[in-house]
Amino acid sequence: MPRPIVARIHTHALAHNLAVARACAPRSRVWAVVKANAYGHDIAHAFPGLKQADGIALLDMDEAVRLRELGWTGPILLLEGIFEMRDWEVVEAYGLTTAIHHEDHLRMLAERRPTQPLPIYLKMNSGMNRLGFTPDAYRDAYARARDTSAIGPITLMTHFATADGPQGVSAQMTVFDQTANGLPGERSLSNSAATLWHANAHGDWVRPGIMLYGAAPSGIAADTAGRLKPAMSLVSRLLSVQTLRPGDTLGYGATFTAKGAMRIGVVACGYADGYPRTAPEGTPVVVDGVRTRVVGRVSMDMLTVDLTPCPNAGVGAAVELWGTQLPIDDVAQACGTIGYELMTAVTARVARVSDDTSPTV
Ligand SMILES: *Cc1c(COP(=O)(O)O)cnc(C)c1O
Repeated sequence: MPRPIVARIHTHALAHNLAVARACAPRSRVWAVVKANAYGHDIAHAFPGLKQADGIALLDMDEAVRLRELGWTGPILLLEGIFEMRDWEVVEAYGLTTAIHHEDHLRMLAERRPTQPLPIYLKMNSGMNRLGFTPDAYRDAYARARDTSAIGPITLMTHFATADGPQGVSAQMTVFDQTANGLPGERSLSNSAATLWHANAHGDWVRPGIMLYGAAPSGIAADTAGRLKPAMSLVSRLLSVQTLRPGDTLGYGATFTAKGAMRIGVVACGYADGYPRTAPEGTPVVVDGVRTRVVGRVSMDMLTVDLTPCPNAGVGAAVELWGTQLPIDDVAQACGTIGYELMTAVTARVARVSDDTSPTV
């Protein structure tokens, strides 16, 4: 028998969350962002839930090819553009749309003669200072792109740094609007946070990622509770149960000491599955439907939980590390991180299993 840990992918939840994104931005088209192997959900498992998107956005060439092999014939956007010269062949062969964020991209494209002019997303650095042409350089880059025969339709693109927080998007919006003023082309600005919370930034195409997977862009479960549904449940089982006596310690480093007699459950899930080793004592976990806590140090293949609130849980009891019973944001918050990191960290040895092959959208 395989180890009992599995990442259940909820197709219906993906479809639901995509519909929420659409309802948030009813006048925009939606790029469903599936980079990082669909935020750890596996592209093949996420795709059936995201088929209603207008386009699918990602980073890796091989993920784009996989998506075509899965039968997706709609638009695919390469969010970081191309990485080397020969990537242009993939772009042309598979009909991809690519971000252009750098001088080199424009220079390389000037030398190509594609059979059809390539649609591009011309990226402006409106303040995040990672990728894109600075406002000073943007209009010149636009003019050169327009005059490059290899380039077809140009969409104006930027990315927000603080759409999920109190600073919001207004400073970057101002830079973007001033710089883009009068330039023809569609606009694409909004990640999940801006899709959810900044209607003035929706433009022609929104680019939600994390919200499709049911986590809050802000990292606070309450911010999207009741609106989004978790698309992954990381589940496992108890392999063993130990009874500690007062003063007994638990696991590597003996970091936990029992104050009184207590039962401990040993869960088949460790950091080699992607569960953070840094999860502190008290990190929430659900056993047998009851919320309890991690105690002791997370090891490679196992972690240990307090069974005090679940007296009936024995070997084989169901464990949910996060998912429909426990928001991933709650676990992430306890671990000092965000849902994005937890879901993308689930390792390859954890099987992804779709629990629903017929989405209701
Ligand atoms: C990842 C990414 C997104 C999606 O961001 P979320 O916060 O997951 O919604 C949108 N646009 C770009 C350029 C990205 O890299």
